[in-house]
Amino acid sequence: MHTSTSCTILLLFLPSVLSFFLPPLLSPTSSPLPLKPFSPPPSRFQTKLFSSDFYADLGVGRNADAAEIKSGFRKMARKYHPDVNDTPEAKVKFQEANRAYEILSDPSTKSRYDQFGEAGVGTSAASSGGAGGFGQEVDLGDIFDSFFGGGGGGRGGRGGQRQRGPVQGDDLRFDLEISFSTAVFGGEEKVRIRHLESCETCTGTGVKPGSSVRTCSTCGGSGVQMAVTRTPLGNFQTQQTCSSCRGTGQTVDEYCGTCSGQGLTQKSKQVKISIPPGVEDGNKLRVRSEGDAGPKGGPSGDLYIFLKVKPDPRFKREGPEIYSEVAVSYVDAILGASVKVPVVDGEVEIKVPPGTQPDQVMRIKGKGAPRLGNAQQRGDHYVTVKVEIPKSITDKERALIEQLKKEGGGGGGGESGKGFFSK
Ligand SMILES: [Zn+2]
Ligand SMILES: [Zn+2]
Repeated sequence: MHTSTSCTILLLFLPSVLSFFLPPLLSPTSSPLPLKPFSPPPSRFQTKLFSSDFYADLGVGRNADAAEIKSGFRKMARKYHPDVNDTPEAKVKFQEANRAYEILSDPSTKSRYDQFGEAGVGTSAASSGGAGGFGQEVDLGDIFDSFFGGGGGGRGGRGGQRQRGPVQGDDLRFDLEISFSTAVFGGEEKVRIRHLESCETCTGTGVKPGSSVRTCSTCGGSGVQMAVTRTPLGNFQTQQTCSSCRGTGQTVDEYCGTCSGQGLTQKSKQVKISIPPGVEDGNKLRVRSEGDAGPKGGPSGDLYIFLKVKPDPRFKREGPEIYSEVAVSYVDAILGASVKVPVVDGEVEIKVPPGTQPDQVMRIKGKGAPRLGNAQQRGDHYVTVKVEIPKSITDKERALIEQLKKEGGGGGGGESGKGFFSK
């Protein structure tokens, strides 16, 4: 029941941040979705942004930084390292944490994992090198350093005592088209999304209320079955999700009928999105905790709003700068005039000075778009003057212009007025 209305909106579009976030968000949904009203795609995988849970293996959130990842691993190691805890469950936990840390502590594998999930870093224990088992390098000094009173401390991770820590739900993507003016000045939009919420009948456990739950006899509650594969390179210990309990470690007498034991139900919900002033096409907004709820009461993922800005035929925009054109008759360009120019928040009157040249650009200060993150500051509006030469003129006009020509005016004026051929 993650119906909390706390839609904290984070801006993720400072250029550097943008490029950091873009690949992980876009790659699994490779085709750039054309704009369309939100409808759940046929396969939910199209909107999944992340799939596996190395972060959960370390008891940290998906946004954990290097320090949190390290401290998460230390915590796991302190609890499950074979020197500390020699139960089979601990062994598995430690292997999981070890592998997760191996991937997440290295920026390059971490970023591949963030982008492509487990597929990006190879699967299962087999890829984690060498002679399998506990052969991986673990810096015990590092672990016991913190164990015996080093730094580390930190807040309690999500891993906890549970058999399997709650896993965060999936992030979702929503493509939202907004008007040019909303992008400039900000506004509020309501969107209807479908996401998974924790089942109300069973409070997310998937178990029918009152039904009994027992420890799985096949795996003894660990949720994992171990197997040793002999190869010429050595023995590989591989682990598989227990087939009897599908990894839950529990046997359930009766599952919840509302959610078919999933603990999650698909819900449609209206979410209010507040759009800050100054956003642009391609920006993303994050609405916290409006993604899918995590299985077994795990925290919800986030909802990412991908903004698409409808063009305005009158304006072009580059960040806070706005560009437009204004048509001015050749007479006004010669004599000067006042003309009305549409700007993003209405209309201003500008003075076209006498002798204005075709394509001359005039700047209207402070009439551009607000700067993202600093709405008080606005960019400028640039108007290009388009001098209109009439395609047909009245007889009277013709007479006047010919008169003008005889006077030696017209043409290019000034020095070149003497004519091109008469030098
Ligand atoms: Zn249920
Ligand atoms: Zn089992």
